[in-house]
Amino acid sequence: MSNMIDIRGARKSFGRDLVLKDVSLRVPVGTVTCLIGPSGSGKTTLLRCVNRLETLDAGIILVDGHMVGTTTRRGVLHEAKESAIARSRRTTGMVFQRFNLFPHRTVMQNILEGPVHVLGRKSSDVIPEARVLLERVGLSDKENAYPQELSGGQQQRIAIARALAMKPKLMLFDEPTSALDPELVGDVLTVMRDLADEGMTMLVVTHELGFAREVADQVVFMADGVVVEAGTPAKVLTAPENERTQAFLSRIL
Ligand code: ADP
Repeated sequence: MSNMIDIRGARKSFGRDLVLKDVSLRVPVGTVTCLIGPSGSGKTTLLRCVNRLETLDAGIILVDGHMVGTTTRRGVLHEAKESAIARSRRTTGMVFQRFNLFPHRTVMQNILEGPVHVLGRKSSDVIPEARVLLERVGLSDKENAYPQELSGGQQQRIAIARALAMKPKLMLFDEPTSALDPELVGDVLTVMRDLADEGMTMLVVTHELGFAREVADQVVFMADGVVVEAGTPAKVLTAPENERTQAFLSRIL
């Protein structure tokens, strides 16, 4: 099986703080990987490096076979070509913890933004696709609403529809439900589960262990900038071998 994401020896510091220490991780095409671990362990940073919102200090990241971050042998950052970065951004959809919709644009305008302004497609071609996406996230009736008229969960489902409008090959989720009231979490997870069932490749930072257990092909436990343990949900969540994984799970279960 080919890898949609292939991270090899990723290192990243912020000042003196070494946040990623030699992280390697693969996400095969059509599979779901859930990244779990204590706050501050480097999960978000890793996701941001995959999407090129941050650059690596050392190591390599390939997305869909194309380099998005690399270094020379001397450890000097060698920028991947701009074209490769633009390609990877287009290949990759990202959904953040806080719904980052444009507040002064309607739901439909938010969804059209990327395809029309970034890809240069005609609105009239994209609108029917946007309606299909709205139906898929269960919000067909909200096409003309503004973000502030929607609940957090609805906004997050629109954020997912907006990312999907770019027809990504890969979706990155950074704790997409952690800012939501508990009763709104389920609908967002259902949309994500449906997406996984349709074969979307996904890398998901989450504290929702039920979701990870049910949907993930691979669970990766990170702590202090390293991958401590990785494997199937049955292995990592039910029978973890490492003490740190065991301690983390006993704290949050
Ligand atoms: P997690 O997602 O596991 O909670 P993060 O990747 O957000 O972890 O953070 C890892 C560490 O990196 C934390 O100590 C955090 O404070 C630090 N960090 C993250 N982003 C920045 C930044 N832009 N500048 C400085 N420090 C950062």
